[in-house]
Amino acid sequence: MWRVTNLPAHRPERVVMKFGGSSVADPEKIKNVARQIAAAHERGLEVVGTVSAMGKTTDSLIALAHDVSPDPNGRELDMLLSTGERIACALVAMAIHDLGHVAVSLTGSQAGILTDSSHTKAKITEIRATRIEAALAEGKIVLVAGFQGFSRETMDVTTLGRGGTDATAVALAAALGAACEIYSDVPGVFTADPRIVPDARKLLAISYEEMLEMSASGAKVLMLRSVELARNHGVRIHARSTFSDEPGTWIQENTGMEQPIVSAVTHNESEVVFTLSGIPDRPGAAATVFDAAAAAAVNVDTIIQNVVHGVAELSFSVPAEDVPATRGAIDVATAALGTMEIEENHDLGKVSLIGAGMRSHPGVAAKMFRTLADLDINLEMISTSPIKISCMIERGDIPRAVRALHAAFELEREPVAE
Ligand code: ADP
Ligand code: ASP
Ligand code: MG
Repeated sequence: MWRVTNLPAHRPERVVMKFGGSSVADPEKIKNVARQIAAAHERGLEVVGTVSAMGKTTDSLIALAHDVSPDPNGRELDMLLSTGERIACALVAMAIHDLGHVAVSLTGSQAGILTDSSHTKAKITEIRATRIEAALAEGKIVLVAGFQGFSRETMDVTTLGRGGTDATAVALAAALGAACEIYSDVPGVFTADPRIVPDARKLLAISYEEMLEMSASGAKVLMLRSVELARNHGVRIHARSTFSDEPGTWIQENTGMEQPIVSAVTHNESEVVFTLSGIPDRPGAAATVFDAAAAAAVNVDTIIQNVVHGVAELSFSVPAEDVPATRGAIDVATAALGTMEIEENHDLGKVSLIGAGMRSHPGVAAKMFRTLADLDINLEMISTSPIKISCMIERGDIPRAVRALHAAFELEREPVAE
């Protein structure tokens, strides 16, 4: 659990404004972000900005690392990746100076963002905001490099995982008692990825609970960890567009007003399924595999086990970036359990339905499976939670599956109150 020392009261005159990579992709866009931050300051707000690396910088840096090394060292990868956000942050600060405001850019460690020491997926443990507070007290605009922190245990720079600037923004808002505005290239959270479903509808509000499931199942508009932090600290997030003034989506406690059966369809095309066969069918075999995965910090998602004639077969999905760590974990498990047959499938994707109303409405799964069957799509794996149903299917089928489910559940229509 994340610690906030002397949690400040909510201060409506303070705002944390987060801009993603596409919002700072080139010099003109950087100047636009600077104008928006300066405008908030001119309205009398204390402003802390946090930005992601420009455009696809992080992807390029990761590719560069892999050109140099097949399995880059985690500490060095974080040293490398954290530079992307520092560049963007310093450039925004320069552009703000040109607008006649005083701005100061800070790295994650200068800003007092402390994390655990798990490289490339560190968790924020505490924010020591004294330096930010001092700069705000002097009337300065503060820019914090997103996606990064500092481990006091190892004295090293860490990064927070893909999309991590969302977590920086929410954690800063909690620590500073500020409002939290997350600006990106979409005007809010939609009933499906608007790049795939043209008539996807923007949601005015969504509960933390549903947003957690959406983020966990692939809706990258908000990073999962940022929603967890928001829920744990009661931060209302306003997810909105960098390029227009229209109101976005509020991510907040459930108001209890509207509980659609299905709120959204999500998809994920970057998971890999591992299948281990020939596992001895005895107590502790699965524990051995998943202990090894946990020790390697692998985020395991869907799991299926079959037992035939005293031998077990275990399939599970992991995010693409965890594949090398998973292979290492399987080596450890093999040493304990004996030789197993190992298969990796990189051709599957996951489509999910999310809705808090599912709890009390049977029949959603049947309708989902029927819709996919009508498209002749085979279900490779199925997993459920009280408010989510997920199916692993051929990756190439994902776009038409998402569109068909969106249409079958009529998500383009405003829900009618029951
Ligand atoms: P940023 O760079 O600002 O952090 P991201 O690229 O991380 O932005 O997230 C925004 C993207 O999330 C959008 O371009 C959109 O394609 C995608 N997305 C996926 N699912 C959804 C959804 N349900 N609602 C809105 N956007 C979504
Ligand atoms: N630049 C990082 C990424 O691409 C962090 C972020 O965008 O929030 O994942
Ligand atoms: Mg993002």
